[in-house]
Amino acid sequence: MNIHEYQAKELLAKYGIGVPAGHAAMSVEEAVAAAEKLPGPLYVVKAQIHAGGRGKGKFKELGQDAKGGVRLAHSVDDVRKDAGEMLGNTLVTIQTGDEGKQVNRLYVTDGVDIAKEFYLSMLVDRASSHIAMIVSTEGGMDIEDVAHNTPEKITTITIDPATGFMPHHGRSVAYALKLEGALAKQAQKLAAQLYEAFTALDAEMLEINPLVETEGGELLVLDTKMSFDGNALYRHPDVEAMRDETEEDPAEVEAGKHDLAYIKLDGNIGCMVNGAGLAMATMDIIKLNGAFPANFLDVGGGATTEKVTEAFKIILSDDAVEGILVNIFGGIMRCDTIAEGIVAAAKEVELDVPLVVRLEGTNVEAGKDILANSGLPIIPADDLGDAARKIVAQVKEAA
Ligand code: GDP
Ligand code: MG
Repeated sequence: MNIHEYQAKELLAKYGIGVPAGHAAMSVEEAVAAAEKLPGPLYVVKAQIHAGGRGKGKFKELGQDAKGGVRLAHSVDDVRKDAGEMLGNTLVTIQTGDEGKQVNRLYVTDGVDIAKEFYLSMLVDRASSHIAMIVSTEGGMDIEDVAHNTPEKITTITIDPATGFMPHHGRSVAYALKLEGALAKQAQKLAAQLYEAFTALDAEMLEINPLVETEGGELLVLDTKMSFDGNALYRHPDVEAMRDETEEDPAEVEAGKHDLAYIKLDGNIGCMVNGAGLAMATMDIIKLNGAFPANFLDVGGGATTEKVTEAFKIILSDDAVEGILVNIFGGIMRCDTIAEGIVAAAKEVELDVPLVVRLEGTNVEAGKDILANSGLPIIPADDLGDAARKIVAQVKEAA
């Protein structure tokens, strides 16, 4: 789960990490009130969307010469003007895709006099099974470009979970950032605080770009992105409460409410499968047969009629879907029960695209009979390959 910049900074501040003062705002009036609470004379008005590259982004509704999604303002009046231009408009950045994202929230912060910009990120590195800290002296730019053009300017420090964060990790961070004296001490402390926040909050990724040294000699987190392990959110109701559903795919939000693991993809064949491994195999075999899956969907172990109905509704809410492949292995759940669920659900949603069903497992014959006698145009399949060939043929024929 992703959160907004202002929320991430709020969390980091609780761990003693330095961030510029600021307030979130949902309206022009709130933005003005936020600015009035700050010392000035420099303010920054920042679009809060779940995407980076806001500074260089462009608003769809404004001309090409208009300023982007991170604006320096030199008076409260300018904050008012910028907030009015940004709120409700659509910001397109390198990370949003062409459709862009509507700006519904702003963050008004105290403007900082920047002496130097750095990069620091953290993630769970699967290769080393450690949390990795990735740091670079090249802050404020695209880290992908830095990695491509000057990989020697990026240092990765991994932290063994058995020892946890040690003073030498902090020294490595300070050294990689070429900091000395009091600033090096600050960097060591910051790295320890970040590790503490990252592990305590079950974060998955944290990116600070830029981390800045101010003219006053202070290290501050100027911009940050944070995401969390969805499976650990139950331990962090305060983080869970930061979810902004308007930033997420509506079908994925709906699926989450019904405990369905759904991820929208770009193809036209909807998939309903039980078990993540079988769902992956189903997507692979659709591709092998020359078509593309419209989604990943794991209905889980207990595929009840209600769940199957919701799953059908979610699959069909995607206009791109031209056919559905149901691939269910009845283990603990018997095939006849599943077949009844599929028939009831197909009737309820008034299915209007071809439906191929492959059932296997306990009571499979009884299940197949139920499908055959349902009066619905369900196309039965014998195995996974047969099912994929049939649905791909159906969709191609209809096209
Ligand atoms: P992003 O474009 O989404 O990555 O948003 P950032 O928060 O990183 O802001 C983009 C750029 O705006 C930064 O790299 C800075 O150069 C600049 N910027 C942001 N906040 C301040 C500030 O307080 N003072 C100054 N001088 N520049 C800032
Ligand atoms: Mg940034």
